[in-house]
Amino acid sequence: MSELRHNPITRQWVIVAENRGARPQDLVVQQVIQDTAHCPFCEGHEEGTPGEVLALRSPESRANECGWRVRVVPNKYPAVGAASPQADSSSAGFERDDITVLPGLGVHEIIIESPRHLTTVTQLSVAQFAEVLTVYRDRLAALRNSGQFSNAVVFKNSGAGGGATLAHLHSQLVALCADRSIYADRSPALRESGDCPLCATIETDSQRLVTKSEHFLAFCPFASRFAYETWIIPRQHLPRFEETASEILPELARLLRAVLVKLEATVKSSAYNYIIHTAPFDTTGANHYHWHIEILPRLSNLAGFELGTGCFINTVSPEHAAAALRDH
Ligand SMILES: [Zn+2]
Ligand SMILES: [Zn+2]
Repeated sequence: MSELRHNPITRQWVIVAENRGARPQDLVVQQVIQDTAHCPFCEGHEEGTPGEVLALRSPESRANECGWRVRVVPNKYPAVGAASPQADSSSAGFERDDITVLPGLGVHEIIIESPRHLTTVTQLSVAQFAEVLTVYRDRLAALRNSGQFSNAVVFKNSGAGGGATLAHLHSQLVALCADRSIYADRSPALRESGDCPLCATIETDSQRLVTKSEHFLAFCPFASRFAYETWIIPRQHLPRFEETASEILPELARLLRAVLVKLEATVKSSAYNYIIHTAPFDTTGANHYHWHIEILPRLSNLAGFELGTGCFINTVSPEHAAAALRDH
């Protein structure tokens, strides 16, 4: 028996249909090709990427040379183009018949998360992962403070099933100059819902709780789109990830890493995406927003029903998913 569930934050419907989980060909088995000799993200191959915009590196080392721990470079193949300093939101779009057209202005950066050729973040120590989260925070803060961008998203594609094309551990950051959010912005839903649905989750969702720490909580959403989908939220209602205090980033790194370790042990795969949703930069009063990290395991391909309807079929109920994750 299946059940339709609605997520008020993503505004998407989900069909929880656990019987479909028994289908024999449900798993995506794909390998990312590993070629360390030519990997542009390995230490010593810095010339293989555009010049770094930020790096955590030893004091005696020099930019774009060895000696770094985390390195941020522009994407060689960006999804959005170089932001022009002259660009402003008033000239950024125009109406043509019923179609709105916006220039693809923004930045697309790669965060290389280890000088070694590691392939999943669970291979990082908590301290190393905390440095990665610090770089996410600091790049988001710098782009927001530049005043050129309206919104940004940090995301990781892990494994071939998660859309990764290079195996070497990395995440991406896309910031846009568009005068509106063109991706799944949670802002309108959170603004219009009155009481924050994520704060309500903290009060009521113990059945779907995966783990928690002093400042953070991990849970499987009631209307999870993906099997074992897990969200991490601050227990306090805070709008901006980029304002996270340095003292609690190691705690967040420990929790996020622990969830990913549980996930990899439960589903025997490191194919997933995680996405950091923070309040849009151009929102002056962002008090409606509750930042969150979504972890979306990619155990099966999106297929015609999902693409055709925007509604997802989930073959593991979030109650069973949370119980399995808690046990690992
Ligand atoms: Zn590499
Ligand atoms: Zn909240």
